[in-house]
Amino acid sequence: MLEKRARKRRKYALAGSVLVTVIFAGFLWNTFSFYSKLNSVIQKYILDANQQIAENMSSKLKSNREFIADFADTLSRMPEHLLTEEMLERKAEAAGLDKVVVITSGNGQNAECLGDGEKLLQWSMETENIWQEPAVSIFEGRSFLFSAPSLKDGQAEKLVIGLESYEAFYSIYQKENQWKQGARILADGTTGEVLMLEMGNEFELSENEIEEVLKKQTENKSDSKTAYKDGYVISMEPVEGTDWIQYSVECDKEFLGFFSGNIRISLVLIVFESISFIILFFWSRQDMKRKEQMLLTDPITGGYNREGFLRAGQKRFDNQKKDEYTVVCLNICDFRKINDLWGEEAGNQVLRFVYRILAERISEQEMLCRNSMDHFVILMHEKTEGVIRERIWEMLEAMNGKIAENYYEYHIEFSIGCCPLELEEDIALAINKGLYVSKQKSEKNVCYFYDETAAKKLKEEYEISELFEESLKNHDFKVYLQPKVSEKGECKAEALVRWQHPQRGFIYPDQFIPLFEKNGKIYPLDMYVFEEVCKLVSAWMRNGMDMIEISVNLSRFTLKEGRKEIWENYKSIKEKYEIPDGLIEIELTETVLLDGNQIAYIRQVVNEFRRCGLKVALDDFGFAYSSLAILKELNVNTIKLDRSFFIDETPKSRRIVRDIIQLVHNLDMDVVAEGIEEMEQVNSLWESGCDYIQGYVYSKPLSIELFEKWRREYEEQEY
Ligand code: C2E
Ligand code: CA
Ligand code: CA
Repeated sequence: MLEKRARKRRKYALAGSVLVTVIFAGFLWNTFSFYSKLNSVIQKYILDANQQIAENMSSKLKSNREFIADFADTLSRMPEHLLTEEMLERKAEAAGLDKVVVITSGNGQNAECLGDGEKLLQWSMETENIWQEPAVSIFEGRSFLFSAPSLKDGQAEKLVIGLESYEAFYSIYQKENQWKQGARILADGTTGEVLMLEMGNEFELSENEIEEVLKKQTENKSDSKTAYKDGYVISMEPVEGTDWIQYSVECDKEFLGFFSGNIRISLVLIVFESISFIILFFWSRQDMKRKEQMLLTDPITGGYNREGFLRAGQKRFDNQKKDEYTVVCLNICDFRKINDLWGEEAGNQVLRFVYRILAERISEQEMLCRNSMDHFVILMHEKTEGVIRERIWEMLEAMNGKIAENYYEYHIEFSIGCCPLELEEDIALAINKGLYVSKQKSEKNVCYFYDETAAKKLKEEYEISELFEESLKNHDFKVYLQPKVSEKGECKAEALVRWQHPQRGFIYPDQFIPLFEKNGKIYPLDMYVFEEVCKLVSAWMRNGMDMIEISVNLSRFTLKEGRKEIWENYKSIKEKYEIPDGLIEIELTETVLLDGNQIAYIRQVVNEFRRCGLKVALDDFGFAYSSLAILKELNVNTIKLDRSFFIDETPKSRRIVRDIIQLVHNLDMDVVAEGIEEMEQVNSLWESGCDYIQGYVYSKPLSIELFEKWRREYEEQEY
C-alpha cells in the first residue's frame, strides 16, 4: 500500500515540477508577447497620433487659407467705404484669427495698411511673390501668416493678411498628446528650418538630435513614415497644402515606462505566487513524508511496524543477498491475559519491554518490528538453526531474568517460528510461513523451522482449502453417525463429518477440521452438517421410523469470532425441516471458554439454543480444563467425558469418573462417556451410573445406510 503511495507521490512531485516549469515558461512567453504587442501598439499609436496632428494642422491651415482667399475675392467686388477697421476685427473674430489686415495700393509705392499692421506692411513690401497668389508663411517665428491678393481686372489691388499665433497650433499638439511624452516638430521640408517645436514632460532633444531627426526624412528613401534611432520612434507626416513636415519623436522605452508600474506589480504578484506555490509544494512534500514516516512506525514501541519493516527489508535487499537471512516470528503466549489482568497500559509496557530487549540484541545488519498485536518479527542475519536457537534463547533468558527481578512468579513465553529466506524470498510470505510453523506445535519457547515438510503440508492445506466451496456444493461432505448406547439399550448418535472427494478420495477430519477452523470455513461446514442431519431426521419422520436423538458439533472457533445471534440460523433451519424439540443436540467443546470468550456470551448461546428446542452438550469434558465450576455456569443437558479419562485407566481415575458422574447427575445433567473400546470399561461405567456410552466397543462412525442397518440389528439382538 505504502509502495503504491510512494509511487503516487513521485508522480505528483514530477507533475508538480512540470506544472511549475510550464507556468514559468508560459509567464515568460506571455511577458515577451505582451511587450512586443505593446511595442507595436505604441508604434501604431505614435504614427496615428502624428498623422492626426498633421491632418488637423493642414485642415486648420486650409480653412484659414480659404477664409483669407474668400475675403480677398469679396473685397474686389465690395464698395470701398464698407472696408473699415471694425469690419476687419469682426472678420478676425469670426475666423478665429488673431488679426486680419488689408494692405492697399498694389503698386508697392504708397502702400497703406488698414488695421494695426505696421510690421505686416513692412513684411509685405519685403516678401516676394505674395502679391501674385495666396500663400502661407511664417511671421516673426511666432505666427502663421495667411495672405491672398484681391484682384481687380487681373491686377492685385489689395493684399489680405490673416495672422494666427503658434499657440493656437500648440493646442492641436496638446490635444493629440494626452500623455505629454516625446516631442513634436513642424519643419520646413525644403529648408529644414524648424517652424514649431513642442517637447513633452521630462523629454529633451538637443539641437543636434533634432537635426538628426530631420535628416532621417531625407535618408528615408522609401515611403515608410516610420524611422528608428537609438530607442526613438520617429514618425513623419507631410502637412497637406504646404512643404512642411510634421514629426513626432517618441522614446518607446519611456512609453513602456508608462506601463511599467502595472507590469512590475503583476511581475511581483507572479513571482510571489510562484514562490508561494514552491513553498507550498515542498511543505506538502515534507508533510507527506512525515505522515508516511508515521505510517511506518509503531506508536507503542517507536520502532518499525509491519509496513515499515517490509519496506526497509525490501530496500536492504536491493543490494544484498537474501539467503543469509532468516525471518524469526515471536508470538507472546497468553498476552490477552496480561491485558485482561493488568490493563492495557501494562500490556503496552510489556510490548515495549520485549521490543527493547530484542532490539538490544540484534546487529546493525538486522531488523526488528512489532508485526501485530503481540507478535514480533526479527530479520536475523543467520541461517544456521543452532545459532538462531541459541540467540533466541539468550533473548528469552534476558527477558525472564529481568522480569524475575520484580515478579517472581511470572515469566513470559513465546511460540516461535522461523523461515529462512533461502526457502521463501518474499519477506511478507516468509513471515506468514514462520507464523504457520509456530502454530503447528504447542510447545512454547521452542524455535520451529519452516522446512520441506512444512512446505509440503502447507501446500496440501492450501489445496484442500481450495477444494472446499466446490465440495460443499457437490455434497462431497457426508454425515456419518456413531451410536451412543444406554445400559437399557436405548440408542442415540453423534453426527461426524466425512469428506469423500471424487479425485482426492477420503479425507480425514483431522486433516481438514483444524484447517477450516483456522481459515473460517468451519462455520459453513457446521451449518451444512446441521442441515443434513435435519434432512435425515425429517426423512425418518416421514418414513414413520422411531426417532432417536442426534448430536451435531459446533466449533469453538465460530463462537470465538463472537458471531452474534448464531442460534437464529440454527432455529430457522430446524423450523424449515419441522424438527420437533429435543431431537437434536449441539455439542460445544469445553474449550470454548479458553478463547477469552466472555462467559456471559457462551451462557447466552447455550440458553438461546435451548430456547429454540435444541439440546446442548459440553464435549471433551476434562480434556483441557476440567473446571467443575463450568458446570455451574452453563445450563447444558449433557456432559461428554473425554476419551483421555479412559486411556490408561487406574482405580483412581475410575473413582474420579464415578464422582464426576455423581456430581453431574446432581446438577440434573446426563453423562456420555466417549471413546470406549473395551467391554470391561462398559460394565464399570454402568456401575458408576453413566447414562450413555459412545465408542468403538459398539461401533465406529457409520454411513447413514450402515448406521440404519446397525440399529436394526442392535435392536433385534437386544430383544
Ligand atoms: P469429537 O467431536 O470428539 O468426535 C469424536 C471423535 O472420536 C470422532 O473422530 C470419532 O470417530 C472418534 N472416536 C469415537 N469412538 C472412538 C473410540 O472408541 N476410539 C477412538 N480412538 N476414537 C473414537 P472423528 O470423526 O475423526 O472426528 C474428530 C473430531 O473432528 C471430532 O472430535 C470433532 O471435534 C471434529 N468433527 C467431526 N465432525 C465435525 C463436524 O461436523 N463439525 C465440527 N465442528 N467438528 C467435527
Ligand atoms: Ca463431538
Ligand atoms: Ca468429543
